[in-house]
Amino acid sequence: MKTPWITLTLLALLCFAGVEPASATTWGEVEKACPLCDTTETYHAPVSWGSYIYRRPSRLQLVFFPVTSPRAIYSCTGCRYSGLIWDFKRELTKEQKEALTKALAKVVIEVEEPTEDEAENPPLPYVRMDPLKKLEVAAQIYEVLEVEDEARSHLYRAFAYHALMGRNEKALEQAATKCIEVTKRVVADPKLEGKRKEGLVILGAMERLRKNWDAADAHLQEAIKTTFVVADNPSASKNGDEFLGKLAVELRELVAKERAQKEEAPKKEEAPKKEEAPKKD
Ligand SMILES: [Zn+2]
Repeated sequence: MKTPWITLTLLALLCFAGVEPASATTWGEVEKACPLCDTTETYHAPVSWGSYIYRRPSRLQLVFFPVTSPRAIYSCTGCRYSGLIWDFKRELTKEQKEALTKALAKVVIEVEEPTEDEAENPPLPYVRMDPLKKLEVAAQIYEVLEVEDEARSHLYRAFAYHALMGRNEKALEQAATKCIEVTKRVVADPKLEGKRKEGLVILGAMERLRKNWDAADAHLQEAIKTTFVVADNPSASKNGDEFLGKLAVELRELVAKERAQKEEAPKKEEAPKKEEAPKKD
């Protein structure tokens, strides 16, 4: 099964203008069978959204609804098979099932008790699991299944995004580093030439999260000079190229601002020290 890289093709079908409606994104519930152990459970599924999802702050990590929500990170309470929403459509071979069963044998993901406020209407069990833990297991599953680099890049971006939201610096550093590793392979792949621009913006966004300003800026500058192409789809190519170009410019501005703030900070700290140091006679 092909996992979407990012849904830039969809961008071509959407209108860029307009404001976010009050109702915004909505969710429903679906019954899903686990691809590994066949346990059927209730999960949330997105019902409605609009092009405004591409203007939300998560664009700076190239992560978009529904992946921005822990509701879109599924995990089976039976075997802890975990993944992004579309990973539950995967068809697994007998060999893959055996390998995954072995890999997941010792995996533990706690289901948190509902809080007092949630007691009457508790969130679904998988929503009460730590999203970072689910993503960590999903990454492990991707390794076993040898999932293609584009999908891995997406998973690690989602991982970095949720680590950022959870203010988990260690997980953020790990996810961004892994994302860079796999995205570099995408960028270097001649077969994926049309997606190079997208890969370069991702590299810039992830290096920014790691505070590697020089690397971030270099990738973003290169992205601006590169053209995004969707084969046989001129409007998707044009919209995608425009979107990524604007995003690269925005990220470059943020990188410059954050770098300046970082360089300014130690000067402020050092200043009083110099004054304080008394000269001994
Ligand atoms: Zn399962």
